[in-house]
Amino acid sequence: MARGPKTVKLPSAEEAAALLKKMRGEVDSNSNYRTKSLKIHGPVCAKCGREFDAANLNQLTVHHKDGNHHNNPPDGCNWENLCIHCHEDEHSRDLLGDYISGKE
Ligand SMILES: [Zn+2]
Ligand SMILES: [Zn+2]
Repeated sequence: MARGPKTVKLPSAEEAAALLKKMRGEVDSNSNYRTKSLKIHGPVCAKCGREFDAANLNQLTVHHKDGNHHNNPPDGCNWENLCIHCHEDEHSRDLLGDYISGKE
């Protein structure tokens, strides 16, 4: 029983496919709601009104109004397109507001 190069373990086709599917699924669900939100609400920051185009669209992010990233209704009612600055502001404001007032 001589050892040949065939003892090198490679991922099977099934393993590779499963991995690819998993990666793709994550990327899909992530970019999916963003694409949908941009389509529904337009490439505009809902707060400061800044408009985005293909060159800087990556600075426009999707905010989940209820803070739940898994709540993605197809009509976009839980999404808000915010530029990275307003998005950061929105979250720090939430935390600070809750902290100070203790209520809505
Ligand atoms: Zn903004
Ligand atoms: Zn957010």
